[in-house]
Amino acid sequence: MTRKTEHLFSLMSTSSEEYLNHVDLALNLDLLNGCNHRCQGCFVRTHKAPEGWDKLIDRALNVAQDFTRRGVRLREVFLGPTDLLTASNTLECLNHPNFQKLLSLSTETRLKVAAIFADGKTKEFLEIFKSLDQAGSYPPGLMIEFLIPIDPVTILSAPESYIAKHLEVFDFFEFQTSKQIEWCFVININTSQTLRTKLVEIVQLVKERLRTVVEFNPGFFRLEKSDSVKARLGEWRDFLERLIIEHPDLPLNLTNMNPQHGASNTIALNFTPRGVYLSPFIYEQIFDFHESLLLEDLSAPAVVNRHMELQEKGFQYATSTENCDDCLMLASCAGRNVLNFMSTNAIKSCIFPKQFRREGGHFR
Ligand code: SF4
Repeated sequence: MTRKTEHLFSLMSTSSEEYLNHVDLALNLDLLNGCNHRCQGCFVRTHKAPEGWDKLIDRALNVAQDFTRRGVRLREVFLGPTDLLTASNTLECLNHPNFQKLLSLSTETRLKVAAIFADGKTKEFLEIFKSLDQAGSYPPGLMIEFLIPIDPVTILSAPESYIAKHLEVFDFFEFQTSKQIEWCFVININTSQTLRTKLVEIVQLVKERLRTVVEFNPGFFRLEKSDSVKARLGEWRDFLERLIIEHPDLPLNLTNMNPQHGASNTIALNFTPRGVYLSPFIYEQIFDFHESLLLEDLSAPAVVNRHMELQEKGFQYATSTENCDDCLMLASCAGRNVLNFMSTNAIKSCIFPKQFRREGGHFR
């Protein structure tokens, strides 16, 4: 057993109230409805019935208030799942008093969103910032992180215009809003041959001309069909393994590489119209509707208890697998619910590139 694993076991032997001193809270809110884009590799059902989405905000606020009054940091609120600029209810959501209250609970909370700026600074963009910057709506220094899905065809066919539109937006972020904004590009390589073959070119273009990074966010967990997810997970692992070998200097920006990220120290919850679920971290926070992750009691101690129970189950499953039991990433994977995902999907061998487990998440 590694030192990290021992530390985790010692935490697990504490009460849920004590455990609360060691965790952050992250909330993924599936509230946005509709999207004008058809990004390759996107598996989001873009047009969901919007009924009741505002009730999810109220639930999320109650949960966040319960955790934060016990001293837990609300680290992140992800407003998704669709494009902020073209979803039909973005402004309703941003102007909702309880959504504003949620983002005002702590000065450390970061709002995360996905948005496509290939059309530049549009009317919708300006309206969104009018809402965000309106006095009394959100904290002036609110941190916002924009994830920008890459359209590989557009970026490669008209790079100058693509770059100019984005630089105009980034200039706005830096000089024309009181919010603290960060941004990066994201790709989902699964269905795009252009991305597979031109990836290195795109990553370099983004780094040199757009001065930011590309993150790899496999979205296929939204498929919900176990066999399809498993097949794509294997393809993704093989693809990354080849990439790491063939391009050892390419910055991959895989948050999976940081063993502390999204592990036992994070309770991530998915608020969806189907219920509230704990969110496993597999390359990113994923949506998994397995009943073991569904939460009926949303009080902080009950949620923490379930979080602890699931980790224990994860450790127990390690002995049934081919690679996990003596892996340097075991504590991370148990904390991230990776092993429970493997167990419920009857997976025995490691789902990640072999370089991850060999180096315990520190290979770059
Ligand atoms: S073998 Fe793979 S899945 Fe298992 S603990 Fe290690 S990295 Fe995680």
